[in-house]
Amino acid sequence: MSASVEYSAPDSAGRFGPYGGAFVPEILIPELQALRTAFAEAWASNTFKDRYHALLQTYVGRPTALTRADRLSEVLGDVQIFLKREDLCHTGAHKINNTIGQILLARQMGKTRIIAETGAGQHGVATATVAARFGLECIVYMGAEDMQRQALNVARMELLGAEVRAVTSGSQTLKDATNEAIRDWVSNPNDTFYIIGSVVGPHPYPVMVRSFHCVIGEETKSQLEAATGRANPDALVACVGGGSNAIGLFYPFIQDPEVQLFGVEAAGEGLNGRHAATLSRGKPGVLHGALSYLLQDTQGQVKLAHSISAGLDYPGVGPEHAWLKDLERVCYSAITDTEALYGVRLLSCTEGIIPALETAHAIAALKHIVDRVRPGGTIVVNCSGRGDKDMQTIMARS
Ligand SMILES: *Cc1c(COP(=O)(O)O)cnc(C)c1O
Repeated sequence: MSASVEYSAPDSAGRFGPYGGAFVPEILIPELQALRTAFAEAWASNTFKDRYHALLQTYVGRPTALTRADRLSEVLGDVQIFLKREDLCHTGAHKINNTIGQILLARQMGKTRIIAETGAGQHGVATATVAARFGLECIVYMGAEDMQRQALNVARMELLGAEVRAVTSGSQTLKDATNEAIRDWVSNPNDTFYIIGSVVGPHPYPVMVRSFHCVIGEETKSQLEAATGRANPDALVACVGGGSNAIGLFYPFIQDPEVQLFGVEAAGEGLNGRHAATLSRGKPGVLHGALSYLLQDTQGQVKLAHSISAGLDYPGVGPEHAWLKDLERVCYSAITDTEALYGVRLLSCTEGIIPALETAHAIAALKHIVDRVRPGGTIVVNCSGRGDKDMQTIMARS
């Protein structure tokens, strides 16, 4: 077995190699410092961790299953595929692992007002859910364009007691909703906690959100050991939007070089057309408080992303993924809208599991990944969410 690799990012300034950091208006610097301290204390405290794990068990439904996918494996070749079933979490995806952690921290810090940004509404719903559970005021910023496209999630958030504020600036999508949430935080720093939905944003968000999702990889280790006698698979595969479900699965294995890691972005209409393949085609730049890869035009202006899956439709990516790409620790590739639709059908008809369109990118990438794994090798795919929310899109394209 090869020696383990030293990997200790981020540093004390929140840098993952050259990436990350905190590029924010000055008024937020003390807020981020307070958040850093509160998170470090909470994460070192057994009381906080017990509370967090109790909610994951009794409210989210953890541990999620690790499902052996024999019929899918048979179609793909001489491999054994397992699915980590984040689709079975309450609200239908992994996102709630993070919103549970952040709302506990908000309460610990005495904050009374929760704000969040949302694109398709999945993070907005996961935030509105935990805000309802704890009886806190919740405001979700959402692009007016996205509110039209995702009317069902708007209705869900409202039913859960959240106020959804329409953002009419710029492209009226996620990027603009995030700008508006940051603006709100700047105006109300004392009572407000900003729950960010992925491993993006200024330090300490990328490391904090990673910590709240690592339960995915930790459970996978013990479940795989129980199922196969070996805690390490040959490969892990996950889709990458901001990168939170991927880092949650990867991180507990990152020091073990025999575990190959594969991140799958959205190639949309193709890498020469409209896409959301930030790591494959972006260049370093600052967005939403951190330096990372970014889709930008020749003037450095942020380009609109496109993907059939709303959760991958973001022009940025978490700074840790930028660093893991440069280190070549994770291999990133991209899957088109059409291939993703094939991934939905493949998992549905081989395993009886309808995946989210985001997840379907990871499924569709498997046919390229199996050739890079030893014969009979074990692959774990993160089944980040269920496909119910995407049925209209799927129907329109079949
Ligand atoms: C939001 C979402 C994603 C993408 O977000 P990451 O931060 O990259 O994990 C992937 N899958 C599902 C089901 C989602 O809802």
